[in-house]
Amino acid sequence: MSRVELKDLRKNFGGLEVIKGVDLTVEPGEFCVFVGPSGCGKSTLLRMISGLEEQSSGTIEIGGRDVTRSEPSERGIAMVFQNYALYPHLSVRENIGFGLSLARTPKDEMRRKVETVAETLQLTDYLERKPKALSGGQRQRVAIGRAIVRDPEVFLFDEPLSNLDAALRSQMRIELTELHERLRATMIYVTHDQVEAMTMADKIVVLNGGRIEQVGTPMELYERPATPFVAGFIGSPR
Ligand code: ADP
Ligand code: MG
Repeated sequence: MSRVELKDLRKNFGGLEVIKGVDLTVEPGEFCVFVGPSGCGKSTLLRMISGLEEQSSGTIEIGGRDVTRSEPSERGIAMVFQNYALYPHLSVRENIGFGLSLARTPKDEMRRKVETVAETLQLTDYLERKPKALSGGQRQRVAIGRAIVRDPEVFLFDEPLSNLDAALRSQMRIELTELHERLRATMIYVTHDQVEAMTMADKIVVLNGGRIEQVGTPMELYERPATPFVAGFIGSPR
């Protein structure tokens, strides 16, 4: 479990500042949700934490280490995206184990790890299938499995459920919450969906126009919104 600390993090694209000085601490083991309207900078912020996007200024610490200039592979993070981009020609087993094979993990160890993860995610019966023979929810579980198998200190999720239908989304919300309880890893979860934020988060970070509007528990935001924006956003029906 690792703490994530952002200090005065900023990002410009050309002349446009899209992240305007973010200071934030995500506690070890916390399920932290970044929520805000489309274009407010959620993905950019997450990509900077992952190292996929370089910050313009500011610092990032993960587990007490300054990783501001570290490669993504050196940050102890795993990221799950909205379009989970599985390898279509590889089986579920190979998709989950892909990162391990890159890291030259011994075959026996790889088999054991992949099968443990598959069990956690109820994918045991599907290990030899190709992605096209899976449902949307199963595919998303494979993408999550690929992240878990690397045993990261911090999980980063970018709208992982937004391509699923409503029924599956609510089921996956429950599954992800259970997964967090089991793994007790630090998780940062990006969504534009207030319901996801309110039901899943230990802590919600409301973003608006590249700035943090408010940080708090779902109850704190609901009962004491700090700005009209937060009140409108959290309180509005979908
Ligand atoms: P969100 O994930 O909250 O929808 P993004 O982080 O994707 O928002 O985008 C924040 C802002 O940064 C938007 O105005 C977007 O157009 C801009 N932006 C994102 N990526 C780039 C890029 N590679 N080049 C230029 N502008 C970008
Ligand atoms: Mg986004």
